[in-house]
Amino acid sequence: MQNLAALKEKLSLPKRIVITTHIQPDADALGSSLALAGYLLKLGHQVRVITPTDYPEFLNWMDGNEDVLVFEEDKDKANYLVENADLVFCLDFSSLSRIGELGELVRKSEAEKVLVDHHLNPETFAKYVLWSTEAAATAELIFDLIDMLGDTEKLTKGMAEALYAGLVTDTGNFKLPATTPHVHNIVAQLMELGADVSKVSHNIYDSNSLDRIKLLGFALSERLEVIEGSSVAFFYLTEEDKKRFNYQKGDSEGLVNYGLGIKGVNVSAIFIEEGDKVKISFRSFGDIPINELSRKYFNGGGHKNSAGGSSADDLQTTINKFKELVQGQTKELNYEA
Ligand code: 5GP
Ligand code: MN
Repeated sequence: MQNLAALKEKLSLPKRIVITTHIQPDADALGSSLALAGYLLKLGHQVRVITPTDYPEFLNWMDGNEDVLVFEEDKDKANYLVENADLVFCLDFSSLSRIGELGELVRKSEAEKVLVDHHLNPETFAKYVLWSTEAAATAELIFDLIDMLGDTEKLTKGMAEALYAGLVTDTGNFKLPATTPHVHNIVAQLMELGADVSKVSHNIYDSNSLDRIKLLGFALSERLEVIEGSSVAFFYLTEEDKKRFNYQKGDSEGLVNYGLGIKGVNVSAIFIEEGDKVKISFRSFGDIPINELSRKYFNGGGHKNSAGGSSADDLQTTINKFKELVQGQTKELNYEA
């Protein structure tokens, strides 16, 4: 951690603090934000979590959820809070452009910024930085931060569960390579703090609508393809498909992983029509740096094995471009898995 002692000093007197995270917060973004908020509240600070956009219902069980301010829903209030903050924590994203309009407010604010993140290539906007691409989740780094501040005994069951939510999801249920002994060690401590890990997983994974399960079945049977002569699979969903299954934000989350479940497949993608744009998710196995492909060809980025991007071309054009890249054996895909 850069400037840990200075941050500790800063936190020794009550401060006005804003915690913010990325667009479409996932369990790690929200869990790490709410756990940190709970901790900072305990230290006696004024704390507000501001998410750029709303998040799905299966995440609304965490302690502190009812106090989250969604930027899109009350921009004036968010503006006021960011403008008057002493400190702004930025969690689980590396560049202010990833949080849209809110990012500009954060940039302009005179508050000191703290970046806690595990994505590649962080922008240098923060005075205090806890950043490691080796961390499985931002939740891991938040635990480490609280540990470095000597305060793990301040963690409550609720905070432990929020952190566990980030860890279980960002490690893909402890399957991804970032699942280290340190991760399991943290999980053990979270359980000792009372985290009900079975309940957390149940809340996150077993709260599908019937429509969503049916969409999964449809996508698997009608919208999944393995590109001939390759080890690459992809899905797509049209606006019409989405309508048919009463698609709600987040319903396609995780779908892309099923492609990797096919024997011999090392790269999976999903292309989702969103108005006149296409939102893309990529997953890869082993050494294939799918974030580089996403960055170079699909305006995106992310982690080596999990990336995303978008395209302003129509769905079919975007899929064709991807197929050509695969069949042309573009060097970004030409790795041993
Ligand atoms: P997901 O497929 O879950 O939407 O995204 C996987 C990862 O890819 C995210 O954690 C994020 O780091 C990255 N990602 C997703 N979409 C984008 C994007 O449009 N631009 C960039 N730079 N990264 C993205
Ligand atoms: Mn994360």
